[in-house]
Amino acid sequence: MDDGALVLFSGGQDSATCLAWALDRHARVETVAFDYGQRHRIELACRDGFRAGLKTALPALAPRLGEDHALDLASLGALSDTALTRDAEIRMRDDGLPNTFVPGRNLIFFAFAAALAYRRGLRHIVAGMCETDYSGYPDCRDDTIKAMQVALNLGMERRFVLHTPLMWRDKAATWRLAETLGGSALVDLILEQTHSCYLGDRSRRHPWGYGCGTCPACELRRNGWESYAAGR
Ligand code: ZN
Repeated sequence: MDDGALVLFSGGQDSATCLAWALDRHARVETVAFDYGQRHRIELACRDGFRAGLKTALPALAPRLGEDHALDLASLGALSDTALTRDAEIRMRDDGLPNTFVPGRNLIFFAFAAALAYRRGLRHIVAGMCETDYSGYPDCRDDTIKAMQVALNLGMERRFVLHTPLMWRDKAATWRLAETLGGSALVDLILEQTHSCYLGDRSRRHPWGYGCGTCPACELRRNGWESYAAGR
């Protein structure tokens, strides 16, 4: 097994930053996306534009970018009754979790990613989970990811390393990381060619990118951008 990396690349700001981070550290990088019928599937359509834009934004590192994989997880969407997979209003549930939580999603993502990494001979799996300014999703927690790494390595007899470079960064720090990795060219590419809005709205362009401007994902992205831009 070589030192290559597989990045869980959804087309959002976080996973796009993770992709740049992986290109900076690994000689061979592949990407994977999961289609589970998310309402904001438009994020998947941003992926090609972002990957293509890396040739200009990160010319020295872009040659490291290899194959892209798309996995169909329609059954995950079919069994999930959430505001991410159904036309429902986004709200807090009685237990304090937002109803955008898709139970099991990240666990399933990692299991499929590891199976793919196994076949592709990639040791490192990189993903954008973060518990600094997250929505309380239990499968974004550092302990969840560490437990998953142990389970995958036991279950597949491998030494996968799961990386979550954004785990302890807030959204402003994620923008700063992008600037460190690729300067304003990478920041501009992320602004233009990534998507975070839960409602899939790309009709409005704000200083922080596209989105409805009011859903929790837009709010996080806007606040992070404003705090980053103020210190720029
Ligand atoms: Zn939105």
